[in-house]
This record gives sequence, structure tokens and C-alpha cells, in this order.
Amino acid sequence: MSQPHPGRGIPSLDLLLRTPEGLELLEAHGRIRVLEALRDGAASLRGASRLPADPAAFILEHASAQLQALCEPSLRRVLNATGVVLHTNLGRSTLARAALEALQEAASGPTNLELDLEQGRRGSRQVHVRDLLALLTGAPSALVVNNCAAAVMLTVDALARNRDVVVSRGELVEIGDTFRLPELLRHAGARLVEVGTTNRTRLEDYRAALGPETGLVMVSHPSNYSIEGFTGRPDPARVAALAREHAVPSFLDLGSGLLLDPEEHGLPCEPTIPDAVAAGFDLVAFSGDKLLGGPQAGILLGRADLLRTMSRTPLARAVRVGKLTLAALEATLRLYLDPRRALEQIPTLATLRLAPEALRKRAEALAEDLRVRLEGRVQVEVVSSRSTPGGGGMPGAELSGWGVRLVPPDGEQAWAERLRREPRPVLATCRRGGLHLDLRTLPPEDESELVRALESTAP
Ligand SMILES: *Cc1c(COP(=O)(O)O)cnc(C)c1O
Repeated sequence: MSQPHPGRGIPSLDLLLRTPEGLELLEAHGRIRVLEALRDGAASLRGASRLPADPAAFILEHASAQLQALCEPSLRRVLNATGVVLHTNLGRSTLARAALEALQEAASGPTNLELDLEQGRRGSRQVHVRDLLALLTGAPSALVVNNCAAAVMLTVDALARNRDVVVSRGELVEIGDTFRLPELLRHAGARLVEVGTTNRTRLEDYRAALGPETGLVMVSHPSNYSIEGFTGRPDPARVAALAREHAVPSFLDLGSGLLLDPEEHGLPCEPTIPDAVAAGFDLVAFSGDKLLGGPQAGILLGRADLLRTMSRTPLARAVRVGKLTLAALEATLRLYLDPRRALEQIPTLATLRLAPEALRKRAEALAEDLRVRLEGRVQVEVVSSRSTPGGGGMPGAELSGWGVRLVPPDGEQAWAERLRREPRPVLATCRRGGLHLDLRTLPPEDESELVRALESTAP
């Protein structure tokens, strides 16, 4: 395998493998990967108009960096300085400690996932959360699936395949780039019957559309948009009542939704899950990782007979929830048995409730620290901020908070990019020449990491 130097100064792989650095790489990564990385490094030199001063060192470094990157996790924790509490791109809710512990426990060995321990028979994985969900929401029964999009899909597939689904024109929404309600309904084999207009839909519009072909009346909560001006839609409870009069199942896609009363507990105004159930819908769907503050999941509440039918379809099997999710969800729901504990221990709720005054104090202390550490290289200001709950909840709702604005001499975009490349990446907002760090979504225990990242990347 030992080749003579190919004349252009690129050392042979054999030679590289026998250097101390080469031997170290062999020890750490094994022969096959090291050879591949070295070949890759050598190839990057071939055809180059000018070789580096020390081609061997160049190739070894190239290989080392490539092999190192292979050992680093791709999915990593980041610091969220955007102020958006439920950021879909950043994984939405942070789990409560109790949920983390439950998740670890369930992942560490066999569980009674589908085993009825009393009878010694096969059981349902849904029992671990069903009664808790019923107790906390007032719903007769519950079914948990992979996410809310799956819950919507499953509902339409099981109840309205080859039938009409009646939806208001003002609610034919797009939630994310691949979740558009009209497409989803078509995909599930249902016929979309649009009623009303974009800005106004009346109860009579629904009534006129109901017929023998109707499989489902669906109401979708406007979770990421709002229609303003000359608008109107009937009280959802009246839509549910109308559907019941016609013996047609009614379905509310709430998307997000709080378990606790926002006014009583100082949370931003948003419909609650118990209210949605009380409005009389046969089925209500929402996400586990939005305002509930739990793991990614789709939670269906409602009539036991309908949920049973749905749970027996092939699609239900395809979108079934995993044991790790169930463990984290059960633990999160248990916290809600005592609202005070839920508010304190579920990070999503605690973050939404942070008082502006407390955030201002933290922003002032952080700014002071940064002024010293960055030694005048950067202009540091304390600024008030407005952020959003995010994650398809509370359209138009704003959270008042405080943050730190950093103005570098050489443009904030480049700094933001360097911050994203840190070992613990920092996500900040670029705004009018400055880098904006919102303290609402940065837990105090992460501040020292933030400071370290800012120091090592500052211009
Ligand atoms: C967020 C949302 C969904 C999708 O929920 P996932 O859990 O992300 O699948 C569906 N419907 C509404 C109204 C939503 O807000």
C-alpha cells in the first residue's frame, strides 16, 4: 500500500498513519474510518493550485476535525434568547423535572407498558394517562397519539372517510409547512365542505351544510393567526349543539390550550381545555408540548365510543405513542393535580408567568457583568422587550419582558452566526443593528454559559 510520494508533495496514507497524530487517530476511531478521513483530506489537496506548507499536517488536521465531528451529537441543547416560549424549531416545551425522572425510569428497563399487572394479561398503554386526563379535563375518555396533527388525521380518517367534513372558510388553516387542513382532509379521504366566508360564518351556514353525507363537523381554533375587522363566528358550543341535534360527531382542533384558568393563575389569555370539553364537542384535540408543557404528543379527549372506534384503526397503530412519551406525559399531568405545583414546576408555565420586574433586575445585572467582560468593545444596553408565547397558542398575545441589547462595531449578523456555532449554541434576535437577548426564555442557571459564549465570540 506504501506508495511513493505522488510527486506533488502529497504524503502517502501509509506515512500519515505512522505519524504520532495518525496513530492517535487510529487508536480513537479505528482503521477504516481513519483511512477514509485521510483519503478525503488528501483528495481535497489534489488539484489545488498551491499546496499548504506542511501537507501532512494539513491532511491529519482535516481528518481529525472530520472524525471529531462524527463523534459529536447532532441534536444538542441550545440557549433560547429569542423570548419565544414555545419555539417549534427549538423543540417547544422543556420538561418538568418530574417528567425527566419518569422518562429516565421508563427508558432504563422493562415496564408495564401494555401489561395489566393485576390480571397478568395484556393491557392498553392508554391506561397510564386516560383516567388522569379525564379527571383533569372533565372529558369522559382520552386517547394519546404521536402529535396533534396525527390526532386530527386519525379523527378524520376514522369518522369521515368518504364522507363530508363541514368546516368554516375562516378556519382552513395552515399550521406548519406540511399541515394544511384542506390537504389533510383530502389525504384522509374526506370531502371538505366549506361553509361561510373567510371573515364571517354563521350558525345557519353550518345548518345548511349538514346532510346525510356529513361525517364530521369540525371547528379549528385560530391558533396562529387572527382575523380582524368585520368578523364573526358562532359560539363553538352552539356549533357542537347543532351537530348533536343532527346526530353528527363534532370535533374541535384546539391545537394548544391551557389546563388551568388563565385569569386565576396569571397566564396569558387563551381558551382552556376544560372549557373546550364543557362546550360539548364530542372530540377535542391538542398538543402535549405546547401550553400543556409536556412531551410531544397529540391528546384526544371525548366520547369513549368514538375513541374506541378510532383506537382500532390501522392508522391508530401507525401514530401510536411511545413509552417515553407516556412516562413524561403522565408525570406532567400528575403535577396538575395541584395547580400550584404545576405553575412552579412546569417550565412552560413558569416561563409564561415570569414577572417583568424580575426580568428587569436580571437584565440589569447581566448588562453590568457584560460591560466589564466585553471591555467597551460592544455597546451594552438594558431594554424592555415584547415576545410571544409561540407554538400556535395565543395569536397576537404578547409578553412584556426585559433583555439586553448588544451593539457590536461590525454588524450583528456575523456575531449571531458565531453564537450559533458555539459548543452550546445561542439563539438571539438581530434587530436594527443590535443583538437582542431576551431573558424570559433563558433560565438563570444558563446565564453563565451565555456569558461564556458571548465572551468567546464578541468582536
Ligand atoms: C399546533 C397545532 C396543530 C399541530 O400540532 P402538533 O402537535 O405540532 O402536530 C394542529 N392544530 C392546531 C390548531 C395547532 O395549533
